[in-house]
Amino acid sequence: MNDPCKKWLPRLMAWFDDEASELDAKEVRAHLLDCAPCRAAVQSWRELRLDLSLLQPDEPTEEVLERMAWRFEEGLADEIHSTSTALRWWGRLAAALMIGLGGLLIAERTVMPLAGTVEASTPREIEEAVQEILQRPVELMPLAPERPVPSGR
Ligand SMILES: [Zn+2]
Repeated sequence: MNDPCKKWLPRLMAWFDDEASELDAKEVRAHLLDCAPCRAAVQSWRELRLDLSLLQPDEPTEEVLERMAWRFEEGLADEIHSTSTALRWWGRLAAALMIGLGGLLIAERTVMPLAGTVEASTPREIEEAVQEILQRPVELMPLAPERPVPSGR
């Protein structure tokens, strides 16, 4: 705020608080029309008051309610966006787990008899194992290999 505007400050505040006389209000409005710094000051008070009234929403004005609704929608949009992002990541994670599980089953069923050739798993075998898992009833899915993993060769 410019120095010449400092004398306006008390009147600006009174006007802002709806406590200015009709004459003062008229002069303040006229000053605001051609003084950008004072307009900015009033604008910042407005936002501050808005924030305060959001913290103490005793008498929410229409403007505050509008702003709250707007913020809510914006926040919701953010949330939906992050949820769908999370779901995408969960999808990838689940796919990775599925492939890992398929690899385990392949190791148990086909590779382990030929202990030591784990790298025999091909993407095609993994794909088939995953398909098999998906077609199996949930109860029959082994949570852990029944046979211990051979540790030595
Ligand atoms: Zn001014």
